[in-house]
Amino acid sequence: MHVLNRSNDIMQKEATVAIIGGGISGLVCAARLQQLGVNGATVFDTGQHAAGGRCSSRTVNINGKIHIFDHSAQYFTVSDSRFAKIVSYLHSKGAVKVWNGPIGHIKNGRFEKDTNLTQAFVGIEGMRSISNCLASNLRIKHPTWVANVSWDSSMKKWNVERHGYFDYLVIAHNGKCADKLMSGANVPAVHRLLQVRFSDCLNLKEQKMHLCSLWVVMVAFPKSLNLSYEGAHVEDDDDISWIGNNSAKLSKSGYSSPTDSTECWTIFSTKQFGSANKVSQENIPPKKSEEVTNKLLSAFGRVTKLSSKLPPPCFTKAQLWGAAVPLNVLQTTEECVFDGQHNVGICGDWLVSPCIQGAAISGLALAERISKHLSGLDSSSTSLTPVFSPANSSTLGEFPTNSSLIFNPKT
Ligand SMILES: Cc1cc2nc3c(=O)[nH]c(=O)nc-3n(C[C@H](O)[C@H](O)[C@H](O)COP(=O)(O)OP(=O)(O)OC[C@H]3O[C@@H](n4cnc5c(N)ncnc54)[C@H](O)[C@@H]3O)c2cc1C
Repeated sequence: MHVLNRSNDIMQKEATVAIIGGGISGLVCAARLQQLGVNGATVFDTGQHAAGGRCSSRTVNINGKIHIFDHSAQYFTVSDSRFAKIVSYLHSKGAVKVWNGPIGHIKNGRFEKDTNLTQAFVGIEGMRSISNCLASNLRIKHPTWVANVSWDSSMKKWNVERHGYFDYLVIAHNGKCADKLMSGANVPAVHRLLQVRFSDCLNLKEQKMHLCSLWVVMVAFPKSLNLSYEGAHVEDDDDISWIGNNSAKLSKSGYSSPTDSTECWTIFSTKQFGSANKVSQENIPPKKSEEVTNKLLSAFGRVTKLSSKLPPPCFTKAQLWGAAVPLNVLQTTEECVFDGQHNVGICGDWLVSPCIQGAAISGLALAERISKHLSGLDSSSTSLTPVFSPANSSTLGEFPTNSSLIFNPKT
């Protein structure tokens, strides 16, 4: 028994894992593997400045001063005790804080505080603080685009193009890239799960991952708009679905100077606006950017009732998230996908719930599955059947909450 444990130990230590995607799911998977004694994980990510994927921020110089915009995830909630432990760790490292808002909903031109929201968290220097903190002790290769992987059945290893052979492969991203990457990898059952349809509404008959597209406009005004709220989900506008005040959100962290009155807002389009204005994400025509910026700014004036009083912006930038948020999730109780015959797994928000917590839990689940497989405790596969159910939130922002998991930093 002792010998068996020792050799298992060595296998865990020596196993190599290629994680393709450094969003929250890939980073948590790598960190959990490390905790479990699997030290040979490498995360490959396309991020120019850092990993993080859809949990990242932009730093912008406006008139000589640095400002931070969260241009994807705005805040996160906690309803799962496993994720609560990760959040406690992030808090202990000074990476996250509670955001008291006010956060709520705008309907019929009126703001109402979200009474279901028990607690919201944000990154200290924007949401990128979360991914930066998770990445700090991991082996990350970025910016690295992995375009080719193949399973070598004789060696029982994965060949990851110029990066060599790995014992395990983790697909920690979705969308067209994952579909294409796995199309020639010789694991059709896994590839089938990654096939994707882009849409703003769910076709229940089509058992495929559905992803919507969203436009985001980052805008700075030279002075405060003096709105009574800091973040609002817009319920009844055709064009915009969310507005958030980054300057207010980050002010108490000391990342916006009290002498600087510039106010930085993030505006999200609706899913329908995203579809209607979709262009190639890699090659956005400047005219489209301008048109989208004007439309979303006009909608911003409309929902805040500031239209004519809105000061001319001192900065604007439009960005398209082509593969923004999953509209459905794979039906699995295992919170990840794992093929024990081919040493390949998938993690991501679309396997649990389309939010930061969902991505983190999926990463945890897959790491534990790989560790068990390595120990010989479980050589089976999860279900590889593409059956999807609607995501439990119809609009972006209905993130899971749990009133019994209120975080109190003092305890
Ligand atoms: C506009 C927007 C707003 C959101 N708002 C919120 C919010 O307020 N709260 C919340 O909880 N959630 C929010 N979400 C959802 C949340 O951001 C995601 O659920 C979560 O970040 C997904 O993490 P992930 O690891 O599953 O995927 P991702 O973050 O997408 O990570 C995948 C990574 O893989 C990389 N990659 C892809 N292909 C390759 C390749 N071939 N080689 C190498 N790397 C590759 C990508 O560049 C990316 O970095 C929002 C999402 C969007 C788009």
